[in-house]
Amino acid sequence: LDDTRTPMGGRLLRQWLVQPLRERDALNARLDRVDAFFHDTATRERVRALLKQIGDVERLTTRIQQNIASPREVRTLGASLEIIPALNEALTQSLTPTPSPSGRGEQDFPPSPFGRGVGGEVLDAVPEVSALIAKAIVPDPPTNLANGGVIAPDYSAELDSITHASRNAKDWVAALEKTERERSGIKSLKVGYNRVFGYYIEVTTPNLPQVPSEYIRKQTLTNAERFITPELKEYEALILNAEERLVELETTLFRALCGEIAQYGERLMKTAQQLAELDVYSALAEVAIRQRYVRPELAPESVIEIRGGRHPVVELRLKDEPFVPNDVTLTADELVHVITGPNMSGKSTFLRQVALIVLMAQIGSFVPAEFARLGIVDRIFTRIGAEDAISAGQSTFMVEMVETANILHHCTPRSLVVLDEIGRGTSTYDGIAIARAIIEFMHNHPHARAKTLFATHYHELTELETYLPCVKNYNVAVVEQGDHVVFLHKIVRGGADKSYGIHVAQLAGVPQPVVNRAQEILKELEQGDWSREKNAEPIQLRLFSPDDDLRQEIAALDVMSLSPIEALNKLFELQKRAKSK
Ligand code: ATP
Repeated sequence: LDDTRTPMGGRLLRQWLVQPLRERDALNARLDRVDAFFHDTATRERVRALLKQIGDVERLTTRIQQNIASPREVRTLGASLEIIPALNEALTQSLTPTPSPSGRGEQDFPPSPFGRGVGGEVLDAVPEVSALIAKAIVPDPPTNLANGGVIAPDYSAELDSITHASRNAKDWVAALEKTERERSGIKSLKVGYNRVFGYYIEVTTPNLPQVPSEYIRKQTLTNAERFITPELKEYEALILNAEERLVELETTLFRALCGEIAQYGERLMKTAQQLAELDVYSALAEVAIRQRYVRPELAPESVIEIRGGRHPVVELRLKDEPFVPNDVTLTADELVHVITGPNMSGKSTFLRQVALIVLMAQIGSFVPAEFARLGIVDRIFTRIGAEDAISAGQSTFMVEMVETANILHHCTPRSLVVLDEIGRGTSTYDGIAIARAIIEFMHNHPHARAKTLFATHYHELTELETYLPCVKNYNVAVVEQGDHVVFLHKIVRGGADKSYGIHVAQLAGVPQPVVNRAQEILKELEQGDWSREKNAEPIQLRLFSPDDDLRQEIAALDVMSLSPIEALNKLFELQKRAKSK
């Protein structure tokens, strides 16, 4: 989802995702802005191209405020602010929002969906700051202040005069070689510089007799001697002092500049926030167009209706086959979907896609579907995957139950609950019992009644539909072709009758003898005790077998005609016979 162009946008999108909204108006306002970019490709592209040139205004401002920004960072802030007038132009010229499907008329919209700030502009470019930076700092400054070269000419008269003096001195030294060669007649005379001796004049040994008398010998090399003159040392001091002074003054000026910029901190931060929002809106629109997302309709009532929904990540990963879209309708009358289907058929994908579509809608994004009408949910609860927490001293099943307990305690009729294979971590009967109790609770408890998608391997749970009116069975369609099974990934009404687990084992490369043996055992189980137990009602202890003559005799008794003593005798006799049998 993140196709933002600035670090600020990336951070904001992340924040939106972890803090989705529950207010319909605020969400519609976000959707209006995404919509505006969605329908105006020229503006969207222009805005995104401009945003790409903008640095992290938020972070740069903070660093300047903390006095830790480098000269290059300050310049980046200036350059970023200079882009904003072009952004304002792009935004005010052509963006016209289309009315939202929620029925709001066009007249309800402000002239620009992004609102107008001071001076009728959408974004405050803080021109005072960009002007200051442009005036103070050279176009391509070094990263640190240590070597000077940061402050632009004409910014400080003092700095300019030092630079000027230093430059004159350097020019004089540069010209020295030529003048001294002419004066002494030594053609190979050289002027050089090293850190230990500073500037020097070097003369090779054969020319030493021609050296002028005022030269002072400083160093002897194998083939040459190095000299200085008092004048050269004077200029040297001038150059070195100037350099030191220059760095000192530049540092002072730079710190003062940062202090001045920091005074605009509040305005800069507001602009940074607006830039981040623009970035997110335009990025969401871009993704919506590229991935064929639609604007969700935010319904006032509690409903989740998705037609042709897709999983935004799985659909991108599928290379060879197309993603199969699926529908879902969850309302107060169709509250719990029990979804059965073989392994690998797409149950988990379906569950997650519904949750993701709801989440995307509640950050103000378009969603991967043909149509989506969504009531705002207060929370999305998920119990998905079996991540172990062994390190925390909890078993897989314990983790599953802790999470389930949390869901059951906190869900409301406005929540969306997605439960994948609850009860898998324990024995079959325990698992079925827990799963069934959870569904009954969701369905019956007035405080729960959350819209629930429940994926399960337990076909026994499809029976719930017969006595819980708001439970509906769905399964993932499968076609059997001879020995092969084809998963259609399509969610259809009704319960699944087989799990095809052995088929998946075969697909995964489990050795054929094991697969064959599993098939045999399955057959035995289905025919034998297992299948009887599977469908068994709780076993009733019966007092009599149906063909028992005792029973017939009791049935034939005329109780009303017996005296109490006769009745007691009869009961005594019957008991005796029952005991002997
Ligand atoms: P299990 O019960 O073993 O956990 P599952 O039924 O939950 O399996 P998923 O993990 O959702 O199955 O899906 C398995 C694979 O099937 C996915 O990785 C994906 O490649 C493919 N798939 C799932 N849904 C679709 C779809 N709608 N269209 C196309 N392919 C899909």
